[in-house]
Amino acid sequence: MTSSTDLQNGTQPRPERFSALEGQLSAWRRHLHMHPEVSFQEHQTAAYIAGELRGMPNLEVSQLTPTSVLAVRKGTHPGKTVLLRADIDALPMTEENSFEFVSRNDGAMHACGHDGHTAILLGVAQLVSEAPAWDGELRMIFQHAEEQSPGGAEELVFETSLMDGVDVATGLHLNSQLPAGVVAVRPGAFMAAPDNIYIMVLGKGGHAAHPEEAVDPIAIGAQIVSNLQHVVSRGVSAMEALVVSVTYFQAGTTTNVIPDRAELKGTVRSFDPGLRERAPAMIERVVRGVCEAHGARYEYRYENGYRPLINNDEVAETLRQVALEVVGEARTREANATMGGEDFSAYLEKVPGAYFNVGSGNAELESGFPHHHPRFTIDEAALSTGVQMMYAAALRLGKAER
Ligand SMILES: [Zn+2]
Ligand SMILES: [Zn+2]
Repeated sequence: MTSSTDLQNGTQPRPERFSALEGQLSAWRRHLHMHPEVSFQEHQTAAYIAGELRGMPNLEVSQLTPTSVLAVRKGTHPGKTVLLRADIDALPMTEENSFEFVSRNDGAMHACGHDGHTAILLGVAQLVSEAPAWDGELRMIFQHAEEQSPGGAEELVFETSLMDGVDVATGLHLNSQLPAGVVAVRPGAFMAAPDNIYIMVLGKGGHAAHPEEAVDPIAIGAQIVSNLQHVVSRGVSAMEALVVSVTYFQAGTTTNVIPDRAELKGTVRSFDPGLRERAPAMIERVVRGVCEAHGARYEYRYENGYRPLINNDEVAETLRQVALEVVGEARTREANATMGGEDFSAYLEKVPGAYFNVGSGNAELESGFPHHHPRFTIDEAALSTGVQMMYAAALRLGKAER
């Protein structure tokens, strides 16, 4: 921290300014938590965010898509153009928490922490708007629809002018499995490509007492499920990371009829682009082989999800340095790579950047439930950590010489 008494260009706000913001961060987060909206339907959420931003000086506020919001702080001095991203959408699920700011929208819940991400970026916007000067340009994108493929990042990055002239991007995800106050970052592969598979086994229905006259799609489907595990354990090097999980198996209607079809769906997760390219054919070979062996036909579709999220090593190192300053060495960790997916990867197709985690777990507050759990919540102390990290990262990345 500097001893500067004012917000100066290129300096951190005083620590007191961060503490003074804490009540506001909670208020934003709780409002958003009470009014969750699911992917591509974040109209009220976007209106609320835009309204808050329009009350802040020195920002240009616009909407590049109907449910996202962009706030820009134009530079007074030359420098890099830095993009900060928060995702704003909720999940289609019913909240089981009992605090007073639980979801007021039936069937929607902020169970991933995006209410917190939004509050954090609003906090950064507030501080940035108060800075008398700024190096370069800061773009703060409140992105819709992270939770639903094809994702909001795809259209913002590839169909709008958002990334024109951007030099570097960063964003964060709260993490309930890390204690509040901890920051975790890693270079390289961080999150997987979350692809989907859809398989229909087409057999021949018949009387359950005479399976020899039928082609039983359930027995064949079960063999596909177990044989797909060999794609991972015997088809791919142990040094390569691949997950194939069948998550849906639907067939039949009653006890004495062999149905004519079985429907399987699942997910395929990978980091390595080469392995990801091989996966569709490896899986289809198993489906085709098992079906042919037993006289069934099949339909098969492999759907690409988000790209794998690969952090730029240099930017990740900058974020690690920022974390050392903001939370100290004891609270700076190397993040674990995860098989989860994240459409922040779309920004990294265009510019170097890195994604990081801020811990939001606190046993006393019962904020250790996993993300997407009906009792998920966060320790709001993480919000201030997030603001300090993002603000310091924006300053540092805006100046960085490359
Ligand atoms: Zn999520
Ligand atoms: Zn999320």
